[in-house]
Amino acid sequence: MSELIIEGLRASVEGKEILKGVDLVVKSGEVAAVMGPNGSGKSTLSHVIAGRPGYEVTGGSVRIDDIEMLGLPTWKRAEAGLFLAMQYPTEVPGVALRDLLLASARTSDDPEEIEIRMQAEAERIGFDAKLLERPLNVDLSGGEKKRNETVQLGVLRPAFAILDELDSGLDVDALRVVSARIEQATEEDGLGVLAITHYSRLFDELHPDTVHVFADGRIQESGGPKLATELEETGYERWVRPVTAAKPSAGLPDDPFADPLA
Ligand code: ADP
Ligand code: MG
Repeated sequence: MSELIIEGLRASVEGKEILKGVDLVVKSGEVAAVMGPNGSGKSTLSHVIAGRPGYEVTGGSVRIDDIEMLGLPTWKRAEAGLFLAMQYPTEVPGVALRDLLLASARTSDDPEEIEIRMQAEAERIGFDAKLLERPLNVDLSGGEKKRNETVQLGVLRPAFAILDELDSGLDVDALRVVSARIEQATEEDGLGVLAITHYSRLFDELHPDTVHVFADGRIQESGGPKLATELEETGYERWVRPVTAAKPSAGLPDDPFADPLA
């Protein structure tokens, strides 16, 4: 039983503060949903947890049990049990998924066992096993990229997975298969999940234990699974600062298509 503990996490990009003190705990076998509007900093949160360069962490901590992640290179965070499924998976020409998985497996894992898992995981979610030999994500459809991430998760068996909009680019059937696979991992392997999304449809198969509303760089409200369906109905307006309506600039006619001679 492990915990992913995020405390008072603050981070900036190009001098602008995006994460403004994030507090969140995910336990083994649990799914924590983080739902929020576009531009609120959800992907930034996932990147900062995983150690993607380009962010300045200005405070707080991210731990797996007693191990501090902040300051560690990404591969060491992965070794400690973290996995990130990116919103926009990166294309890596020249590196096949198969090679990536063999290289990322723990040294204690038997390569033959990894091969077996790859085939089994691909089959489990209807991912064409031929794609294991193709360069990572190159020319894959949005849905194939997300299945690809799910195969990686199934093979590598991390302790905690951060899923950044796993539902984007997936059609309804593929979403069902992929989210059901992840739900199984929470039950079979005690995977802890931090699932970032703005649609509750991800949670038809992957059942959240806690739901957190994320807006303006921090968690604004937390609740049980019902909160996800409420958000689907009400949206995030309550937590988003009102945007002042743009005024038409002076000098332009009210209707730019009006006949000027009329
Ligand atoms: P979300 O995933 O919730 O849609 P993001 O974390 O992608 O939000 O972005 C949050 C804010 O940070 C946005 O205003 C975005 O423009 C800004 N941002 C993110 N990454 C960068 C970057 N590399 N450079 C400049 N601004 C960035
Ligand atoms: Mg995002």
